[in-house]
Amino acid sequence: MTSTGEFRNYIDGQFVEAASTFDSIDPSTGTTWAKMPAASAADVDRAVAAAHRALHSGPWAAMTATARGKLLVRLGDLVVANADRLAELETRDTGKIIRETRAQIAYVGDYYRYYGGLADKHEGSFVPIDKADMEVTIRPEPIGVVAAVVPWNSQLFLSAVKLGPALAAGCTVVLKASEDGPAPLLAFAELVHEAGFPAGSVNILTGFGHDCGHRLTSHPLIARVAFTGGPATARQIVRNTAENLASTTLELGGKSPVVVFADADLDSAANAVVAGIFAATGQSCVAGSRLLVERSVKDEFLARLKHKAEAIRIGDPQDPETEMGPLATSRQREWIEKTVAESLTSGGRLVTGGKRPEGKADGFYYAPTIIEASDQNLACVREELFGPVLSALAFDSEAEALSLANDTRFGLASGVFTTNLAKAHRMARGIHAGVVWINTYRAVSPLVPFGGYGQSGLGREGGMDAIRDYTRSKSVWIRTSDDPIPDPFVMR
Ligand code: NAD
Repeated sequence: MTSTGEFRNYIDGQFVEAASTFDSIDPSTGTTWAKMPAASAADVDRAVAAAHRALHSGPWAAMTATARGKLLVRLGDLVVANADRLAELETRDTGKIIRETRAQIAYVGDYYRYYGGLADKHEGSFVPIDKADMEVTIRPEPIGVVAAVVPWNSQLFLSAVKLGPALAAGCTVVLKASEDGPAPLLAFAELVHEAGFPAGSVNILTGFGHDCGHRLTSHPLIARVAFTGGPATARQIVRNTAENLASTTLELGGKSPVVVFADADLDSAANAVVAGIFAATGQSCVAGSRLLVERSVKDEFLARLKHKAEAIRIGDPQDPETEMGPLATSRQREWIEKTVAESLTSGGRLVTGGKRPEGKADGFYYAPTIIEASDQNLACVREELFGPVLSALAFDSEAEALSLANDTRFGLASGVFTTNLAKAHRMARGIHAGVVWINTYRAVSPLVPFGGYGQSGLGREGGMDAIRDYTRSKSVWIRTSDDPIPDPFVMR
């Protein structure tokens, strides 16, 4: 950050001004609090060129995997040491409550440590080749320059699952922060610098999707795109990568079902449903936004949820007592208001919320909302709202619960609440989603792969295999015979 309160992009080891800036809005007040650098196509070109240079020459290219791992561990330690400062910035710039940003960012350090530890454990192989005079080894090599593009929610976290494996594999990276709430990532660049990453190995910038994002993901020197964001943008990204044929992972939205059976511990399940839809003001890709509840306990369960929803402390996201802050942008609130209104005129029954909370005229606040639906066709059941809106639907049998859970174009996460072990296993097998949480919700770890089915995405992040996605193999053939090469006209 400069003395004038402007943030800067980080390109080729330098903190640089951009040709233009844009205002960043504090969602809790609706007012501008900082200026952000809008990277132009020329800035992107410089960042990609620097990353390409660092990949092929200089200290990064010469570094052993062990040395890269040590840098990543150092970065993880710096993130933990600076978690409070980064959390305050993320809370200020996105409205996400401080008690969550502090905890989440401290955990982001573990992602860098995990991939730091893995950096020199990703081994190649020796092939027992079927030719007596040959030896073949398979070398995993970094795939190339990576374009990492993230949305505004949890930017540090969503960057760690890309930068960690990419850098462990030896790739270089240009990371684009979202134009909404980029402050924590631009501040994180200072830690990358302090950790000692060589110039060009990590470049961090922000700007708008249509120019900066487009240029980055279609750039001819980009070999891999790691994208997290909405499905409409994902389609743009796929079109962009038609230019460079970069391999791509897409982490997209969801409309995740939470299935509550009558035999569940209902109070624990109610807490999990609250965690799934009202934590982070519902602005989470894994938001458990579709409650499916067994009819015999529906009324009782909805009454519990209504009570819990109405008791949520809504307020200043910087106050550690606050449980729900504002939405990140005013356009997000407008989309939610429109979809809720449409759902209520199409037959949805409002259980609670459905409006802006009292006494919160400033900022982009919206009350925790529950809508009981009679079928799956309501807009609030089908569309990702990315806000604190839960739809609730009753079911009569396990088969119906499974069929309703899978009646969606998405497939990111899901929750099942039951005390019947066999039923839990059957549901886990049957649900079409990349994550199934049984008797819990919203748990993550660097050790566990994460990603979606269907329109929720392509590929997985997290876990050991993520490094493999940032490498490509090279087969090295060595002839061990001293005899002259036989018949040159026959393939060996
Ligand atoms: P978005 O798709 O609007 O933006 C994401 C990023 O893409 C931003 O950095 C944006 O500038 C960039 N972008 C926009 N247009 C582009 C283009 N043409 N070319 C290249 N880049 C472009 O998403 P958002 O509204 O910021 O975030 C919310 C979405 O992200 C939701 O759908 C949510 O579910 C999803 N999400 C998914 C995960 C996951 O892991 N599956 C995690 C968090 C959020």
